[in-house]
Amino acid sequence: MFGLFKKEEPRTIKPAAKKVVPNSRPPQGARPASAKPATTAAPVTRATASHPPLDSLTKEQVSSLRGGEFPSPSIFGSAYLLANVGDKYFEFSASAFPADNQRTAYMQYRSEVLGAGVMPIKVPAEAADIRAVMEKFDGSVNQDADAPIEEAKAIFREIIATAIKEKVSDVHFIVRKDSAIVLFRIWGEITKSKQYEPRSLAGVLSAVYNKMHDARSNSDASFSAIMPSYCTVSLPELAIKLRWQTVPLGYDDNFDVVCRLISKNNGKPMSLDQLGYLPSQAQLLEMAARTPKGGIFVAGVTGSGKSKTLQSLMWIVAQDGTKKNYTVEDPIEYPMFGVSQTMVQRNESTDGNPFAKAMKTFMRADPDTIMAGEIRDTDSAQVAEDIVRSGHHLLTTIHAASAMAIIGRLASRDIGMSRDTLAEPDFLSALVYQHLVPVLCKHCKVPFYELDETRNDERLAAHLFGENRYALDPGSVYVRSKDGCPHCVKGVSGLTVCAEVITPGKDYEMLRAFKEARIADALMTYRSRRHARFDEPDCDGKLAHEAGLYKVSQGILDPRDVQSLFGDFGLMDIY
Ligand SMILES: [Zn+2]
Repeated sequence: MFGLFKKEEPRTIKPAAKKVVPNSRPPQGARPASAKPATTAAPVTRATASHPPLDSLTKEQVSSLRGGEFPSPSIFGSAYLLANVGDKYFEFSASAFPADNQRTAYMQYRSEVLGAGVMPIKVPAEAADIRAVMEKFDGSVNQDADAPIEEAKAIFREIIATAIKEKVSDVHFIVRKDSAIVLFRIWGEITKSKQYEPRSLAGVLSAVYNKMHDARSNSDASFSAIMPSYCTVSLPELAIKLRWQTVPLGYDDNFDVVCRLISKNNGKPMSLDQLGYLPSQAQLLEMAARTPKGGIFVAGVTGSGKSKTLQSLMWIVAQDGTKKNYTVEDPIEYPMFGVSQTMVQRNESTDGNPFAKAMKTFMRADPDTIMAGEIRDTDSAQVAEDIVRSGHHLLTTIHAASAMAIIGRLASRDIGMSRDTLAEPDFLSALVYQHLVPVLCKHCKVPFYELDETRNDERLAAHLFGENRYALDPGSVYVRSKDGCPHCVKGVSGLTVCAEVITPGKDYEMLRAFKEARIADALMTYRSRRHARFDEPDCDGKLAHEAGLYKVSQGILDPRDVQSLFGDFGLMDIY
């Protein structure tokens, strides 16, 4: 039906099998025959340059007809008809929606049509005219609308099942006028999956958005290639949930759909340790999570796993069992006992920060801990400040390039927290910065010196192994194998967090530096805490790339990956 993998004329895709089934079910609350409007009177819809008159349609041209059951004359008012004339599809619809159930029926109808890969030409019509057409054909025009929907679902499921098998984090559906392609992001890198016929893939996507979204998770009632939309889709049979975002490109109906795969980890968030936090860092963070006040701010680029860290922290908070905790999540991944979890309200007006709105609501609801990402404007900053200063506990995210840079960001004009507040003891319980780094496949990793291209990388070797630099043991450093093996993708078997965790607490020297905008001094204060070598796991005083270096020293990470994500080792200061 969708003609995947083969070129075909877009117009050859039918909205549904033209199966004509006599409508044997008596219409609910059917009007008595005597109440039928005179079908001999010519309907008023006139032909225009762009669409045929309704009354000229033949039974064969009418491929779908809905709204024809007329629940009762009082709520009658919506009727819809899809016609295939020549090489065009026309959707005739009445504009009035007098009752909610009629609107729902319309939305279902639309999604069936769109799900069949058709983008019909819309024609406003009078409900009575549509009804007249239906009555002319004696209600016998019908279709097996579910067949194409089921086919679309099956195609989508197969794509997602492949993605899960290949450990994909995000599936990108790229739909252009003349091409359609599915891309997979695997361990941080984009790889091409398959080519599709554009209209077919568009049809599959609209069917999935319209028919498979989780209840109330959809920002818009039906799929559109020209409006950004959002929903979640659960595929319990694959033990996965998808966070769906439609990204219209604004021309030629080109669009992307990006689905983040959210898998279940035995029904609870990953622990800090599982995420990749080293024991000394996990300990500091657990302490901060168990302290019922102060703010934990987690920074990192998009896709660095910040929300996973927040979930893990909230899980720790919830173990206490004597507190009232609230979250606003995007979406809710793991139900947590003892936590009132809410979802970002995507279908509200896009004005303002939805997290700020939620935080304000929670503040009026006797909270202990509030988890809400992200602080990005004065509105969210103000409510975050209120939460912490009134003695509550806040877990949140922020965009900043390092843990220490969080201070500058919070005090920036965009966000506007006062430096006096930031310098208050216990206001900041932890500043965190994290990055995800590819993990070496243990089955095929290659010793650093055995790979041709690294054999000659004297500069990298000098930094890694030099006594005055990181002084790692060359024998325990590995790199990715070029082609990978059956256990991995290009030598990578996963992602791990490399982080820095700074707990200002009552470090008055650091707090004074915050207050006086001397961030370099604050950083020096933190850096002076380092006592461990770079091949030792203790991370006090270390930065995220140095947590990465420890993992390099253990043969867990490729030093070239750490360097490419955090910057040239030659430019890094060592304290
Ligand atoms: Zn491998």
